[in-house]
Amino acid sequence: MAWSTTSNRPVRMATLVALLLTGLGHAQTPRLFESVEAHMGTLMRIQLYAPNAAAARRAFRAAFDRIAVLDAELTDYQDTSELSRLSREAIGRPVRISEDLFRVLEASRQISEETAGAFDITLGPLTHLWRAARKSNRVPEPAAVRAALASCGYQKLHLNRQDRTALLDQPGMQLDAGGIAKGFAADEALAVLERMGVHSALVAASGDLAFSGAPPGTAGWKIGIAAPVGYLVRSNGAVSTSGAAEQHLDAGGMRFSHIIDPRTGLGLTQGLTVTVTARRGIRADAASTAISVLGVERGMAWVERQADLAALVTEGDGRTHASACFKDWIAP
Ligand code: ADP
Ligand code: MG
Repeated sequence: MAWSTTSNRPVRMATLVALLLTGLGHAQTPRLFESVEAHMGTLMRIQLYAPNAAAARRAFRAAFDRIAVLDAELTDYQDTSELSRLSREAIGRPVRISEDLFRVLEASRQISEETAGAFDITLGPLTHLWRAARKSNRVPEPAAVRAALASCGYQKLHLNRQDRTALLDQPGMQLDAGGIAKGFAADEALAVLERMGVHSALVAASGDLAFSGAPPGTAGWKIGIAAPVGYLVRSNGAVSTSGAAEQHLDAGGMRFSHIIDPRTGLGLTQGLTVTVTARRGIRADAASTAISVLGVERGMAWVERQADLAALVTEGDGRTHASACFKDWIAP
């Protein structure tokens, strides 16, 4: 045996220890892994730094499983989701709900109050009407819009933190978390990764990004932004973009966005692209939707009052408006 001669022992021991260290050192230098899965009606992409492929696989599985759970709870495309059940069962009586759903409703209410209802999670009757309109390629009848509007309004949704319950004022109400759920799912996926020891990751739920620590040896995650052409270098935060680019209805020379103005019940026609940064995805996602509704002037004024937000708004004709700190972050 190699160890039997005392004279050799220290040398051999040293070699072994060195080999072990290099072996370990090599295995633990985090490498970038990426995985894409379909969830929440879109493709979700996760990038993360892990010591090896097996660790990355475990992390991806846990993060995507968490997203799948949130999708099942929060979707309004399924009657069986907790959100849809709440819309049916909480009329005039408090219904106890999951912590996930409660957090989404609570964050929604906060941003509704801050934006005078520009963001409104109770727009389900309208969003469903416009979804059907996109399918049939026909703008909804004004009477149908008026009827749907009458079943909307964030003040008609009541939350009780102590009992973790929600209550709806009238029948026909329908919640739609489409403007906030993807950002929340990105946050929660990151939280799962963090608990598994993955401290540098980026979760992209189409336009809703959330990310943890900077990639090893860098100043942050490079987030491409539409206009002006450039990127942000950020860590431990979120960036969300809302726009009519993907889902819209073209009719009568107008382009109606899938984002609805709660005052009129109509899809937005301003054609803004709004990028928002925040500490958390749940906030960035809802804020980008809200600013789209508020428009350039009111939207930027609101952002400048929020210490946790920065925004870039691009108008249809290419004019851009950046909030004070957003400007400083743009790298060419
Ligand atoms: P995307 O889903 O393309 O990322 P948003 O985050 O802006 O875009 O969310 C748009 C979705 O939010 C719509 O498809 C609809 O489900 C819902 N929604 C539409 N208008 C509003 C609104 N004013 N407030 C809250 N949610 C809205
Ligand atoms: Mg949004």
